[in-house]
Amino acid sequence: MTTATETPAALPAKALRLVEAAEARLRRAVWPRMEAIAQTCFQRVIEAFQAEKIGEEHFYSVTGYGHDDLGRAATDRVFARALQAESALVRTQIVSGTHAIAVGLRGCLEPGDTLLCITGAPYDTLEEVLGIRGDQPGSLKRQGIHYQEVSAFEGEGEEAVLPESLPQAVCLAIPAAKVVYIQRSRGYSLRPTLSIANLRRMIEQIRLLNPKAIVFVDNCYGEFTDTDEPTGVGADLMAGSLIKNPGGGLAPTGGYIAGRTDLVTACANALTCPGVGAKGGYTFDLSRTLLQGLFMAPGAVLEAMKGMTLAASVFEAAGYATTPCATDVRGDIIQAIRLGSAEKVVRFCQLVQRFSPVNAYVSPEPAVVPGYSDAVVMAGGTFIDGATLEFSADGPLRAPYTVFLQGGLTYLQPRLAMIHLLDALGEHDPRTP
Ligand SMILES: *Cc1c(COP(=O)(O)O)cnc(C)c1O
Repeated sequence: MTTATETPAALPAKALRLVEAAEARLRRAVWPRMEAIAQTCFQRVIEAFQAEKIGEEHFYSVTGYGHDDLGRAATDRVFARALQAESALVRTQIVSGTHAIAVGLRGCLEPGDTLLCITGAPYDTLEEVLGIRGDQPGSLKRQGIHYQEVSAFEGEGEEAVLPESLPQAVCLAIPAAKVVYIQRSRGYSLRPTLSIANLRRMIEQIRLLNPKAIVFVDNCYGEFTDTDEPTGVGADLMAGSLIKNPGGGLAPTGGYIAGRTDLVTACANALTCPGVGAKGGYTFDLSRTLLQGLFMAPGAVLEAMKGMTLAASVFEAAGYATTPCATDVRGDIIQAIRLGSAEKVVRFCQLVQRFSPVNAYVSPEPAVVPGYSDAVVMAGGTFIDGATLEFSADGPLRAPYTVFLQGGLTYLQPRLAMIHLLDALGEHDPRTP
């Protein structure tokens, strides 16, 4: 029987050595840059709190209509500053990242308008929102919004590269668009994630072709991975989930929309109704939690990114293809590892689950999940259900059998999991047999 005084079992020595060797490389070549980014983001976040004079009075909710809720209004302003935006709408009534994006688009678009996505196929769950899969009432298509999709990338999947200037097909489509939609993170595709430098350049080119276009960025997974946010490099509006990066692991639910004040106002009307906008809505005594989550977010994102570089490094050493590579500049907290077989994807996710704090005794199995078109195996032994700033893994069961690993509120968790994954999968650095 395990007793409280028992020390944990010794770590498998060979796998531990591989992890330590990877850490020595990362400490030299990769982590200093990430730490500098996190410090810059943290400084912006804490200055936002100071500028808005956050105090105890912001931590209490007003029931009913929620009129004059000081905490709700202050949370919006602190997030706006932290995200380099004019205004923000931060709500637990926004149920997910997909919902935040859907409300954002409804705020910007009217019947007859054209929505142009320039980063190829959007994240799976957006397909029903747009009306390009299924035919749901309430889809943008049913509301008379034209959707057009082009790709700024050359090539497909892992071969995709972003050329210096936008391809001709993209340039030709931009002048007619009311909203130009950019997905920053790769999500569950293999094309590269956009760096902030790329995003800045892309937006400059869009402006030249169509100065009136609303540039909308799906910022899911991108927050605090670089020194600037999309709204700091020219985007008009962006949206994301609070159970990803900006919730800092504390937000129990919610989403945000941030950007130009006129657009955020329209989005608030789309979320509640004209006349209420951002001025109503109960906050469930969660303003303190959302603010504290934002305060924790840059540090938590740093921990997650360190964990992902470790995963990339040890699997590269074992001969697997990874995107991004351990030393690449990152624009999100996702690590794709091409495992090459459905069995390995399932096994990998089962091991991630085993080194989780919640439901570690459960063994995940592939299943079809609403909003996704292929069977997916998902590991997420997280405190907040579905939270992917917490250490978690997803593998859509389709070729080339890539597992998507993300998150880690503390680096110690992915580190421990990697040691055991290397051991259990029998992987080792071919250079040190
Ligand atoms: C997670 C994600 C979404 C949607 O977020 P949900 O909260 O799961 O609805 C949209 N776009 C990208 C790129 C994402 O990673």
